Amino acid sequence: PAHDGVRSISVLGATGSIGDSTLDLLRAAPEEYRVEALTGNANISGLAKLAKEFNARFVAVADPARLGELRAALAGTSTECGAGESALIEAAARPADWVMAAISGAAGLKPALAAVDRGATVALANKECLVCAGDFFMSRAVAANARILPADSEHNALYQALASGNRHELLRVIITASGGPFRTWSAEDIEQATLAQALKHPNWSMGQKITIDSASMMNKGLEVIEASYLFALSPDEIDVLVHPQSIVHGLVEFADHSVVAQLGAPDMRIPIAHCLGWPDRIPGRAARLDLAKICQLTFEAPDFVRFPGLRLAYDALRTGQGATTVYNAANEIAVAAFIAQKIRFGAIARLVEDTMNGWVRAGNLAPLSSADDAIAVDHSARKMAATLLPQIAAKAS
Ligand code: NAD
Ligand code: MG
Repeated sequence: PAHDGVRSISVLGATGSIGDSTLDLLRAAPEEYRVEALTGNANISGLAKLAKEFNARFVAVADPARLGELRAALAGTSTECGAGESALIEAAARPADWVMAAISGAAGLKPALAAVDRGATVALANKECLVCAGDFFMSRAVAANARILPADSEHNALYQALASGNRHELLRVIITASGGPFRTWSAEDIEQATLAQALKHPNWSMGQKITIDSASMMNKGLEVIEASYLFALSPDEIDVLVHPQSIVHGLVEFADHSVVAQLGAPDMRIPIAHCLGWPDRIPGRAARLDLAKICQLTFEAPDFVRFPGLRLAYDALRTGQGATTVYNAANEIAVAAFIAQKIRFGAIARLVEDTMNGWVRAGNLAPLSSADDAIAVDHSARKMAATLLPQIAAKAS
């Protein structure tokens, strides 16, 4: 923390859903925080508005062509502006005590690494960057003495629960899944699901990509992989439990068969507040949990047949050597194709599976030892997925 006790904060992906929840917590105690940098993708007016509200020192947009527009929107303020990938990286590299990494997709990797490399405390929401760059990301954090605090609700729950035992006493971790809007649907109905149906998440309000990933349970697949890298767990040590109320977020089972869980309302401001306050606790902004009102918590086993994306995540983890990067890249292509109405909902998992198989058959597996390695695999896997897309689109299920 700075000498005056005011902490400097940067929010990568400030204009998104996680960015909004993070800024809501800062708004509650403005005298305690100073905003160093904010970033966005294309929403210039939204970003400029936030920059003014928080008096940010630096703002960056992803699109290099929009620098002039951003500058015009911030004319007369002292906020510096940047655009393009290098500006996103600069936003992360600037000295801030605490960085929220909440850009969505693999695009968030290099900026997140820039914060990690200077040994910052990084609240990590961007799960794709972990899935894409695997142990490499975590080893960079160790090398730079950076503190990675998981902001994803399930991993944040595990982080809290893991503190009540030691690594060698751990039997397994369990991450919960709401099951999404198609939890009770037949495979045939899931196959034909529309974009509007996939965007109706029962419990959480989130960005579009992750909402679709929740409907396919690819999100849970990404989270299994995320948990494996974050906590150095084997796939056998990670279980998924469907829990439609989204109140219990994660559980850890220890050698003595004690199970320690974290509970809370389904509101991202709870895990984010944990990251922001860490190692202390700060006042919450989300509703408090009233279990007497909720009455019932229910649990069921996940269905790996109706939700093949979940099975594929375990396959990717067991394969290793870049397979999780391929899983993520193919899913990003598949989700974009589904949003563009080029493929059916059911084809998302098929495209991911065919891309993973094609990748293995082509003999492309190799360990990733740099961000550029991970990005190269990400790019070629996207190309392969795009090549496979027309035949997946044409094929009926
Ligand atoms: P969102 O779509 O609402 O916001 C994404 C942010 O990233 C926006 O600020 C956007 O401008 C920026 N962005 C998007 N593409 C970009 C690009 N190519 N370059 C630079 N910036 C870009 O998404 P979200 O729901 O806030 O999720 C953000 C991340 O957090 C994702 O990785 C998601 O998986 C993870 N996450 C979200 C939630 C949630 O509740 N929303 C929960 C857990 C984890
Ligand atoms: Mg989650």
